[in-house]
Amino acid sequence: MMDRNVTKVLLDESEMPRRWYNLVADLPSAPPPVLHPGTRAPIGPDDLAPLFPMSLIEQEVTAERYVDIPEDVLDVYRLWRPSPLYRAHRLEKALGTPAQIYYKYEGVSPAGSHKPNTAVPQAYYNARAGIRRLTTETGAGQWGTALSFAAAQFGLECEVWQVRSSYDQKPYRKIMIETFGGVIHPSPSTLTEAGRAVLEKDPGSPGSLGIAISEAVEVAAGHPDTNYALGSVLNHVLLHQTVIGEEALLQFAKIGVTPDVIVGCTGGGSNFGGLTFPFLREKLAGRLDVTIRAAEPVSCPSLTRGRYAYDFGDTAGLTPLMKMHTLGHDFIPDPIHAGGLRYHGMSPLISHVYELGLIEAVAVPQSECFAAGVRFARTEGIVPAPEPTHALAACIEEALRCRETGEPKVILTALCGHGHLDLAAYGAYLAGEMTDHALPADQLDAALAGLPQAL
Ligand SMILES: *Cc1c(COP(=O)(O)O)cnc(C)c1O
Repeated sequence: MMDRNVTKVLLDESEMPRRWYNLVADLPSAPPPVLHPGTRAPIGPDDLAPLFPMSLIEQEVTAERYVDIPEDVLDVYRLWRPSPLYRAHRLEKALGTPAQIYYKYEGVSPAGSHKPNTAVPQAYYNARAGIRRLTTETGAGQWGTALSFAAAQFGLECEVWQVRSSYDQKPYRKIMIETFGGVIHPSPSTLTEAGRAVLEKDPGSPGSLGIAISEAVEVAAGHPDTNYALGSVLNHVLLHQTVIGEEALLQFAKIGVTPDVIVGCTGGGSNFGGLTFPFLREKLAGRLDVTIRAAEPVSCPSLTRGRYAYDFGDTAGLTPLMKMHTLGHDFIPDPIHAGGLRYHGMSPLISHVYELGLIEAVAVPQSECFAAGVRFARTEGIVPAPEPTHALAACIEEALRCRETGEPKVILTALCGHGHLDLAAYGAYLAGEMTDHALPADQLDAALAGLPQAL
């Protein structure tokens, strides 16, 4: 066994997990079915076939506990996986806490986040199915970067619609996407029906993930050689991300430590599910007693203030209806800096797990997140992406609680990406220009009034 006081726990390439974990196989009840937007009957594989290859559709609905990772995908994963697990000795000391803080760092990937864990298999399965081009949306630009990298690995074209507010705030993501060979448009765009409809009503629209999804789905549905790829929310995406948690379990086993609390940030839920689902398996089997907590922005609080209801995944209502915690599909959150957390809904699987009482959720204001991010940078030397600063804020809150109570809890947090392309946001924070957007009840009520009725 390794010394438990190490600063980082590394796995050998040969120890990399060779299969993904499907939490659905171990839950006391299955999540509610996904419904067809027209008939409102449960959808079948054929309904998804215009957008996704059959192999991914099968993964979306599988009841198997494990899915083997193809050799070609493992090959690409080896560029950055296994990712390191760090002990945050310096942050612990600065907080004066008896708690031990660990973080699983996904910023070592080509895109600088966890997103390539699913972009690579999605590109692989699409290439195998004879697809020529992938379309997608992106918020902060992480997913677009990951998919254009993955598309290049398997000889596919990649076309990305980026939420307008992020497109303007983060020009370097566009350049990175183009460097990997992708094509990028601000959304709403004039290239699609969905985009034109939004621009007609609101020419200055800052865009939203929901609108960008409508645009990418519309183009994929209209071209047989083109498929759509989603970077979060869906079961197969969370499945692919479980390599994170499987590695972390092995890393903790190496030092003989088990976490008491795990915190992660949730936009659509994929990095959070990816880290926590393997731990949840251990918890459900009675082998581990762990508290699992999601951290989301106060201005886009789908778990803590949304309704658990059937809703569309996009603004135009083109996608199937999913039962999830939602703020309403036409909710447009304020343009906060954590672009990856500005989605109106939540993964149906995370929503179901939350309803079952297996996880908790908290909402954190933006300025508290950046304070945590700066504190983390000054102690641990990594500038976090704005999204995981939500998890860091919740992690620091827990560690400070431990200072009050004297409990030496072991806290694990998902550091799902670095913020090297988000420095403008840090600039705004350091200049004292960052504002906190609360979400007024009447704005939330208005968005929820747009939920599909009679479901
Ligand atoms: C995309 C992204 C998120 C939000 O998506 P999830 O599916 O909730 O993980 C969070 N952090 C980073 C760094 C991202 O790129």
